[in-house]
Amino acid sequence: MAKILDKQRYKCALASMQTVQAITRAIPVLHSGPGCAQKLSDATGSSGYFSPNIFPCTSINEKDVVFGGTKKLKSTIENALKVIDADLYVVLTGCIPEIVGDDSGEIVSQFEDASKPVIYANTAGFKGNNYRGHEQVVDAIIEQYLPRVESVNGKDTEKIKGLVNIWADVPYADLFWLGNFRELENLLKELGLTPNVIFGYGHGIKNIDLVPKAEFNLLISPWVGLKNVQKLEKKFGTPYLHYPVLPIGATETSKFLRAVAEFTKVASEKVESVITEHEKYFYYIIERYADLFLENRVINKQFSTVADAQYSLALTKFLVNDLGLFPAKQFVTDDTPKEYQEAIRSEFKKLNYGIEAEVDFNTDSYLIHEEIKKHDYHGYPLVLGSYFDKEITDDLKGNFLNVAWPFQDRVVMDTSYVGYRGGIKVIEDIYSVAVQRFN
Ligand code: SF4
Repeated sequence: MAKILDKQRYKCALASMQTVQAITRAIPVLHSGPGCAQKLSDATGSSGYFSPNIFPCTSINEKDVVFGGTKKLKSTIENALKVIDADLYVVLTGCIPEIVGDDSGEIVSQFEDASKPVIYANTAGFKGNNYRGHEQVVDAIIEQYLPRVESVNGKDTEKIKGLVNIWADVPYADLFWLGNFRELENLLKELGLTPNVIFGYGHGIKNIDLVPKAEFNLLISPWVGLKNVQKLEKKFGTPYLHYPVLPIGATETSKFLRAVAEFTKVASEKVESVITEHEKYFYYIIERYADLFLENRVINKQFSTVADAQYSLALTKFLVNDLGLFPAKQFVTDDTPKEYQEAIRSEFKKLNYGIEAEVDFNTDSYLIHEEIKKHDYHGYPLVLGSYFDKEITDDLKGNFLNVAWPFQDRVVMDTSYVGYRGGIKVIEDIYSVAVQRFN
């Protein structure tokens, strides 16, 4: 029997148009109905050179359902190449063309000799959510674009010493993606490595061209992107480090830096001196605000996160290991594929002081809210979740912070939650909410 899913916290795979948008001067070419892009482009920070309002789209209609939309796709790509000055054109297919069986791959193959690269990804909504769509887009780049890059020769591609590709957040699904990537780049630079990121400011096709030439791939994510780095290893012989926790705060960031240093063979004296310097400042801040932590009577003893695997896990680690809070049930809402759930569950058990967090992979807001309502948080609950969790937290007189999509009560430009500074920012945000009770 069909189930009703209440307020899901992800979009369809076609929302990976935002992954393309996060690559400077790359443009999605949508082979979809006219309303798809409109529905999927709700994130702030989407305007600029290419905004969703100007993404070329076949706007397929009833006639195309009957006769097929490939002719329209061909002319849309031709015209996009003529009128839009981009470096990379990524054709993304929505539900309708895939249901009626349009062979978009065949049409795109006719543009192999076009003046600019044109690739495609199957991103119909019924094939998965935006996390899967993100992987599909990166896959399309690996499979269709990278082999054409100059001096790329499969596993024999010459590597650039110390160059590390960073794969982490899903742009726009994660509001902090830009700041996070920049902070991860800074941390790697401090180790003496050269980071390479394809998304965000100052990056773009030149960074994509470098991907096969990197010495290492670094994936910082519980599951999204794992298949991509595995594919990169297979195609270009690049070893990867899968670090499943987005490092927030001193405990996890120091651990992360040591793991990266070991993998990339950075001298231990180097990494220890970087860690010492950062930890000194981090604990200086913690010490200065010890009065706030100890005397504030409204901050919560127990917390729940309601977010994708990336944020639910990262924040749980930070709140237990660095802030000394106790985890109630944690909710992972990104429809994590079953094959990854056990490994993620075990990460929730690796917390300091022998603490373990129970995790519920759940996409139904109604069920999640019922669980939150019945739990005894021993005081005000602290809920770090999506905007959908604000009302229930208010009803329970708890403290709420919007850290997951959908975001409706905060604006994030280049804030980062990653690293030592990111940890301090999370504390600022939580306590800013807590002190508002009195003001
Ligand atoms: S689910 Fe299908 S029809 Fe709906 S927005 Fe996504 S691609 Fe378009």
